[in-house]
Amino acid sequence: MSEIEDLKNQIIQIDTLLAEEKDDVARRDLEQTKPDLLELVELMEEDEESQEGTSENAKEEKEAVEERIEDDNSTDTLLGSRCMAPFDSDRSLPLHTAIIMDIESSSRVRVLFSHPTCPAMKPCSHFLASTCRYNENCRFSHGYSVELERIEDYQEPDFMSIVEQGLVLVKGSSELWEIGRISAIDGQNVAVKLLKSGSEVSSKRKDLVPLGEIEEKEKKTNRGKS
Ligand SMILES: [Zn+2]
Repeated sequence: MSEIEDLKNQIIQIDTLLAEEKDDVARRDLEQTKPDLLELVELMEEDEESQEGTSENAKEEKEAVEERIEDDNSTDTLLGSRCMAPFDSDRSLPLHTAIIMDIESSSRVRVLFSHPTCPAMKPCSHFLASTCRYNENCRFSHGYSVELERIEDYQEPDFMSIVEQGLVLVKGSSELWEIGRISAIDGQNVAVKLLKSGSEVSSKRKDLVPLGEIEEKEKKTNRGKS
């Protein structure tokens, strides 16, 4: 690696450190170091240009580094954040709540679903403990890869929308969530009729996830189609 590349990498590392550093004194040190390094890189590049006459290359390279720095900043905040993500094998809901567990590239992320509606969405507990031996053959999720542009902002469920006839997610057997419609509410106790099986289950108000917004969205799309 050339000296210039080395310096450029240091600049990128400083940006990463700056994003994490909480201590004011350490931050100030880093903030002062960055322009010094940038200046040094510029000087060295100018020097190289005059030697080789490759001003275009140097300029492109500098732009590439600047882009990399920007990319780093934008993906840093995504990691570990909650979001809404699609799951193509189960379209009973357009979007499911998820957590971004990995940034695969500038356009793809890997997510874990927090309210899985089928086994393939359920985070593999052995994988989370780094002890799963099934890898790609595991029937549970080791993270679902999805295009970044299909990820939407996390929507806090609106618990005011737990009303009779409202759609909700209710936790069923084997830790999976099912979609149901509220048939009756009695204080904290709620009766929910599961859409798939038609059977009625009883649940506590606090164990339900209201789907109010999604239902309205669906109504709108259906109206648009007909
Ligand atoms: Zn597994």
